[in-house]
Amino acid sequence: MAGIYVHIPFCKKRCLYCDFFSTTLLERREEYVNALLQEIKARKNETGEPIRTVYIGGGTPSTLDVNAIRRILQAIGTEEAEEVTMELNPGDATETYLHEIREAGINRLSIGIQSFDDELLRLIGRRHNARQAIEAVQMAQQAGLDNLSIDLMYALPTQSMEQWKADIDQALRLGVQHISSYGLMYEEGTALTQQLEQGQIEAIDEEVENAMYDTLCEQLQQAGFVHYEVSNFALPGYEAKHNSSYWNGTPYIGIGAGAHSYVRNVRSWNPDNLDTYIRGIKDGTLVRESETLTEKDLYNERIMLGLRTCQGVPCELIQKETDTLLEAGLIRKTETNRIVATQEGLHLLNRIIEALMVD
Ligand code: SF4
Repeated sequence: MAGIYVHIPFCKKRCLYCDFFSTTLLERREEYVNALLQEIKARKNETGEPIRTVYIGGGTPSTLDVNAIRRILQAIGTEEAEEVTMELNPGDATETYLHEIREAGINRLSIGIQSFDDELLRLIGRRHNARQAIEAVQMAQQAGLDNLSIDLMYALPTQSMEQWKADIDQALRLGVQHISSYGLMYEEGTALTQQLEQGQIEAIDEEVENAMYDTLCEQLQQAGFVHYEVSNFALPGYEAKHNSSYWNGTPYIGIGAGAHSYVRNVRSWNPDNLDTYIRGIKDGTLVRESETLTEKDLYNERIMLGLRTCQGVPCELIQKETDTLLEAGLIRKTETNRIVATQEGLHLLNRIIEALMVD
């Protein structure tokens, strides 16, 4: 079984913290979608396996009208796919749009809410407000979309623990099946990082950020969510199938500018430039860079991805000594002889992964 990821790099407005590849040149959507259709046609059978999951991500896929979404799904052929996800910006949600994308074949939505606090949303430059976020979820539910994920961010400038708890409570009240949550990162070159450097905003203390993460884990687990990956929580049975394929080595084909693919130990990626991508597809000269993963790369990858999940990695796989990390309480051994990160370890996950990878 395999997955297809389709990248839609358009955004109506750039968020202040974002360093993803995206563009506000909405007038280029039509020619871009035509290029996507051509690439899908050429590559959809590349893995030789049936497509089980489809993920339309971005950028902002909901900048596309339903006709474009329908054309993309028809080109892929999603009749047998178990999970067909699309990311949605709450500002784009209307009853009609949600009904139409469901009819077009979308059966899971990932809604980029980030916060239910208008002031925090304004500070990070999101284009929607709290009311639109709540209404987007409710409209999606009314449209019959019953597998909903929302994104929430913490450690936002000026955010207090009370505000964060209120966001988690609001998310739980909405009755969504899946929550992805990330602490704000100040990436190089973003407008928010500039504000930080100029002293206009302050970063949240690391201790407070860790406490926010712990609160999130506690509250969601109490509400019956399974903490199945460091940043992902799902009601039983609603773990994201497509994203899980990134963590367990299932092949996937990445379509669109900047999209990554992974097929038979080869990772490849399209150029993350709109012109280069569209021109390359049109005249058949698109060059995908690629690398073949060595035994060492594959080991490091299994450590890196495995330790992010609640499954961890089998003890016998690990090639480095683990006693120091075990004694420090950062990892633990399970009854099934696997190594998983402890709650304390999840705060220092990158350091644990680094310690267990080989050079
Ligand atoms: S909507 Fe997403 S991709 Fe677009 S600017 Fe905001 S964070 Fe970046």
